Amino acid sequence: MPINPAQLISTKRDGGALSESQIRELISGYADGSLPDYQVSAFAMAVYFQGMNREETRALTQAMLNSGSKFTWADNGRPKVDKHSTGGIGDKISIPLAPILASVGFDVPMISGRGLGATGGTLDKLESIQGFRTDLSIEETQAVVEKCGCVITGASPEIAPADRKLYALRDVTGTVPSIPLITGSILSKKLAETLDGLVLDVKYGSGAFMKSIEQARELADSLVQVANDCGVPTSALLTNMNQPIGRFVGNAVEIQESIAILKNEGPEDTRELTTALACELISRCTQVTTDQALAQIDSAIQSGDALRKLEQMIELQGGRIDRLQAAESKHVLESNSTGSVTGFDSEQIGWAIIEMGGGRKQLGDPINHGVGIEVLVKSGDTVEKGQPLYNVFCDQGILPSVRSLLEHSITIGSEPPTEFNLIADRVG
Ligand code: URA
Repeated sequence: MPINPAQLISTKRDGGALSESQIRELISGYADGSLPDYQVSAFAMAVYFQGMNREETRALTQAMLNSGSKFTWADNGRPKVDKHSTGGIGDKISIPLAPILASVGFDVPMISGRGLGATGGTLDKLESIQGFRTDLSIEETQAVVEKCGCVITGASPEIAPADRKLYALRDVTGTVPSIPLITGSILSKKLAETLDGLVLDVKYGSGAFMKSIEQARELADSLVQVANDCGVPTSALLTNMNQPIGRFVGNAVEIQESIAILKNEGPEDTRELTTALACELISRCTQVTTDQALAQIDSAIQSGDALRKLEQMIELQGGRIDRLQAAESKHVLESNSTGSVTGFDSEQIGWAIIEMGGGRKQLGDPINHGVGIEVLVKSGDTVEKGQPLYNVFCDQGILPSVRSLLEHSITIGSEPPTEFNLIADRVG
């Protein structure tokens, strides 16, 4: 029986639950153009206010997944795995993680995204490598995975087209921050990869979408439950974004820092998070202990295998790793006071990158991949007046708006900083 959209919207608006078939009809009607934007906007707003139960969220996710194509894999004995991060300032973890996993026997068909709000996107970072393609078709994506074990590309138009339409509508109707809608959106794309395991990095704090750990836990619970209900073994780490990850924020500079991780260099926090997420997948999908998983990760890095995998992936995706866009000049921003670093408002660092042209203010804005910021201090460090806090890579010098954002991004005081734990908890 055909659905009556106005009746379904009223049911949801009044707090009722929708059946699987009602949700399926609604989403397929939107994807095929038979349901207009105005009715789907009303539906999204009803979900925003009333939420969805676990069963409805699973039905929404599967309806969006089934609006498009899925990857198909020949059985080559390599489990298919991926990671999704909800995004954070300086979060470049996907770039070292995918080749590490490929080096220890997994295939990683990673569909990734662009910057959202103040946070940068993995695809934008990779596009600072000259020639690197992020618009691979499903066939091209599968071919890269078959050759080198990992790929990082954007969602092609055949992947979850209902999400593409719904996300654009949510963006302009104030309905992005809804846990069931976020769950359906993220998982419909990840499940299209036909995975054996998934790990989620759900971030909270000043540099993340979710400002409190409670909100992050609610999102992680929803994502983990629905992904498992859909048959993909999934767990999540709740991670702290109250200071940027690593030393560098930007596009090309984050590629350089990712390469440093694969050379067994780079900052401790970035290594810790990369290792923790890899370990989570290895020990979940194979019969090894945590210590054995850690040994495999260490060997992939020490042997140079993971770095060679990244180089191979970049080449297969058309990129020239020796041609990385970079700003020519470096400027120093110094501390105005003496004290200890008691915290960061990390989001301001992301806005400073956008202000310099390293991210988009509007859809379709071009990106200057060379601009970047090096964060020279961490929470708890003591600093003297005049000590460098940030190196700013930007050919125009430090614009007044960028200076103001950076000055507001760091608190220097006399009270002791609260203890900083990067990985706060595990869900699943
Ligand atoms: N990322 C997505 O892909 N979808 C959302 O709704 C939010 C973040």
